Amino acid sequence: MSQKIYFTPGPTQLYFTVQDHLKAALKEDVMSISHRSKAFEKIFSETRENVSELLDLPSGYDIYFTSSANEIWERIVQNLVHNKSHHFVNGSFAQKFYNFALDYQKQSTATVPGNGKAFDDLSVPEDTELISVTLNETSIGYGFETQKIEKLRANHPDKLIAVDGVSAFPAVPFNFSLADTAYFSVQKSFGLPSGLGVWIVNEKCYAKADDLTKNGVITGSYHQLNTLRKSGIKNQTPETPNTLGIYLLGKVAKDMLFRSAKAIQNETTYKSTVLYQAIEKSSSMTPFILNKANRSKTVIVAQMEGSNSETLKALSEKGWIIGSGYGNYKSSHLRIANFPMHSKEVVEQLADTLSVW
Ligand SMILES: *Cc1c(COP(=O)(O)O)cnc(C)c1O
Repeated sequence: MSQKIYFTPGPTQLYFTVQDHLKAALKEDVMSISHRSKAFEKIFSETRENVSELLDLPSGYDIYFTSSANEIWERIVQNLVHNKSHHFVNGSFAQKFYNFALDYQKQSTATVPGNGKAFDDLSVPEDTELISVTLNETSIGYGFETQKIEKLRANHPDKLIAVDGVSAFPAVPFNFSLADTAYFSVQKSFGLPSGLGVWIVNEKCYAKADDLTKNGVITGSYHQLNTLRKSGIKNQTPETPNTLGIYLLGKVAKDMLFRSAKAIQNETTYKSTVLYQAIEKSSSMTPFILNKANRSKTVIVAQMEGSNSETLKALSEKGWIIGSGYGNYKSSHLRIANFPMHSKEVVEQLADTLSVW
């Protein structure tokens, strides 16, 4: 591997053990075995078990594999929304999911405070079927407070709650009983090659999908929830899946379990504090999110005085690949991933450099 360290918010630096697991996968013919074989079923069930244990999923929550989080947005709209979803939009990723619902001509609604401001108003239209929350908005480094999800849960026991945890899990703690469906893709906090989405659902999601089907709604084809479920019971997938991706996820989840989710989460908090302090000290940048309670722990976003291009270039000459801003903020923000594979030591070195920038 190169000497570079990718602090980009996804794809990012691979988790420490990926190289060894890739070698083992080649030896074990993971890329050649049939997806209808016992060997595949074993990989599938082990990955499910390890991820479920790492995230501490309550019983009754099942895991399915897709190609990406984008795909899961579409599957949620198809399978879990008849007419209306409501979206708490704190940046571009949350906005995209909302747009998917509109693409499907749902009468969906959104709360959009804009520019990293907090959600003061948690109200939701009465006839909304599903509420969408982005736990960690990667585009601007906005963290949605757990207490607000608790409130939404308490106020709307009849509605489904969907949580986008793409750049949060497993580095940010989350009580999954607050959500009916949650999802992530693996190229962020897990430090794996892209091309795999992980979709978590509970019984209420199956019931909703059944209800839509009974009402004659088309819920998709090979990846409709019911099809995924039928295959999943056999530890299989409807299509020929990303077997290598599923294998690697299972292995890395196991490695993370060895460290423990709690240890990873505590280290994430520590490193994020170090990075925010450095940005506050620096004379050329400030944290973009002003409200401390909403500062992401895994994607640290700094607003630069001027353009970020010199800074990105200078840091890349040191071997540190930092993310540029997202969308409109492309040339004014730095986005620094703080994921489990970014060691305390390298984060401290980066922070030392930023603090005198
Ligand atoms: C990256 C990201 C996505 C999209 O993930 P894909 O794997 O590209 O589909 C969705 N939501 C958030 C918060 C993300 O960071």
